[in-house]
Amino acid sequence: MNFLEKFNDALDKGYIKPYFQPLTRSISETVCGVEVLARWIDDGNNMVFPSEFIPKLEENRMIYKLDLAILEEVCKFYNKCQYKDITFSINISGIDFEEIDMFKAITEILNKYNVSSNIIHLEITESTMLYDAIDIKNIFNKFREAGFEIWIDDFGSGYSSLNVLRDYSFNVLKMDMTLINQFNLNSKKIITSVINMSKKLGMHTLAEGVETEEQVSFLKKIGCEIIQGYYFARPMPSKDLLDYLSKKNVETKDEYMYWNEIGRLNFLSADPLESFKNYAINADVTTELAPLALVEYEKGEIRYLYFNDTYARELKIIGYDSIKKLVADVNDESFEHYDRYIRQIENTINHNEVQRVDNLINNVVFSHFTKLIASVNDRYLIASSFYTLNSKRTDYLVLKYSQTLYMTYDTVTEITPDMDSAVQIYSTAGFAKVYGTVSLRKGILEFAENEVHPSDKERYLKFFNLDTLKERINKYIQDIFTVRSGDSYEKKNIRITKLDNGKYLYTIQAL
Ligand code: C2E
Ligand code: CA
Ligand code: CA
Repeated sequence: MNFLEKFNDALDKGYIKPYFQPLTRSISETVCGVEVLARWIDDGNNMVFPSEFIPKLEENRMIYKLDLAILEEVCKFYNKCQYKDITFSINISGIDFEEIDMFKAITEILNKYNVSSNIIHLEITESTMLYDAIDIKNIFNKFREAGFEIWIDDFGSGYSSLNVLRDYSFNVLKMDMTLINQFNLNSKKIITSVINMSKKLGMHTLAEGVETEEQVSFLKKIGCEIIQGYYFARPMPSKDLLDYLSKKNVETKDEYMYWNEIGRLNFLSADPLESFKNYAINADVTTELAPLALVEYEKGEIRYLYFNDTYARELKIIGYDSIKKLVADVNDESFEHYDRYIRQIENTINHNEVQRVDNLINNVVFSHFTKLIASVNDRYLIASSFYTLNSKRTDYLVLKYSQTLYMTYDTVTEITPDMDSAVQIYSTAGFAKVYGTVSLRKGILEFAENEVHPSDKERYLKFFNLDTLKERINKYIQDIFTVRSGDSYEKKNIRITKLDNGKYLYTIQAL
């Protein structure tokens, strides 16, 4: 028998078998699919690997026979197995499209076994896009409209990959294992750039040939979503796969979509929540990655699934040496800032926008940004980022913010009753006189006389009674008075806030 006869014989006898290699979601370590890999196992239990028979089948332009036979085996397996949401990535050779109508052939098989197209992903190598003779774009569109995902396989192994990404769109980019094999500084830089680029192009990312824990943690850190390789599992026959899946968390269709939403978040961006620009924070002030964490909220429980180095470093600034301590605090109802934190999470869940809450912990002011990424049942996935105001950004931000804050006041004056002094810090100068330049006692009297409505004068003087002020103020006192505003009067909120060293802040603010 020549090779082709032997192959056809093997097909007839069922020697061609699908092996399955699980695909693992980096953030959750859930199983999000399996790749199907062909094996030729003869009577004597000898296993022949694809590298031996695939080149020959391609040479003979018979590879479509293998690809369709594998699909048929997958359908049979799927119909028997209990995991109805599991997805299968099958390898399709570019030559197939030249030889036969693959769309027709594939949909016929799926129809025959009553299997839905959305559990089948087609892995295609870039060489497929180089065949001029066929309208591959049109073929891809047909597949996509019918519900298939199209993945680009072996990215980074060939010559013209970037052009292919320019001209075609793919659901998932599979990074070739040669990029990961030699895990040095240069390859880390290349992988990071590929991930960054994929996100910008709207593709999910998968790394193949992952064998070590070091590779896994690096890929997770930079936001590579899916991991395939010996580290998690080798390709295995169907019965071993069922065994494997029974020990793992296999994603449901809803969970698949839930976790997929993370793909839209670019971990490598300086503004991953796209929030800083809305809040006039200039993300360019730092060339570093923004602090980023992924938080899962489920029935009152907070879990941190991911955080980057910048997040950990910023946490230290507000007094958390470990994320563990933070997780313990935000899950502890007696934690001082618990209510505030949970309220922010709940607002995040209920609003489809970035939420910002400013906080003060351990004397550090910081803005906490949160954004809902996805939800499934009672589970919510939330991205968290924050900005502390005490690093090198301090001056820039404080200045910028304080100007805005001042503008909400008519006047801000620092007073020191014991010294009978007042220093006006800010005023819209709507009053007849600048009262900050006189002695405090005199200033109070003059202000009461000239600026406060006569009916409120008594009350104002009582409010400002310097003899009892100290006893009356714990943090601050405030009241509403009718005060001159140009030619008429307006109600204003007047507040005296205690500072340190016997000083107080006297503010007037429009209602
Ligand atoms: P591929 O699509 O890139 O598949 C991944 C290959 O990497 C598989 O080799 C898999 O066993 C191997 N692999 C997975 N994880 C690791 C790892 O951690 N370390 C290392 N060193 N290797 C790992 P396999 O099964 O020998 O398949 C080789 C190639 O044959 C596949 O490369 C694919 O291009 C092709 N192939 C396999 N099955 C089919 C098929 O049904 N149809 C077509 N057209 N091609 C197929
Ligand atoms: Ca593949
Ligand atoms: Ca591959």
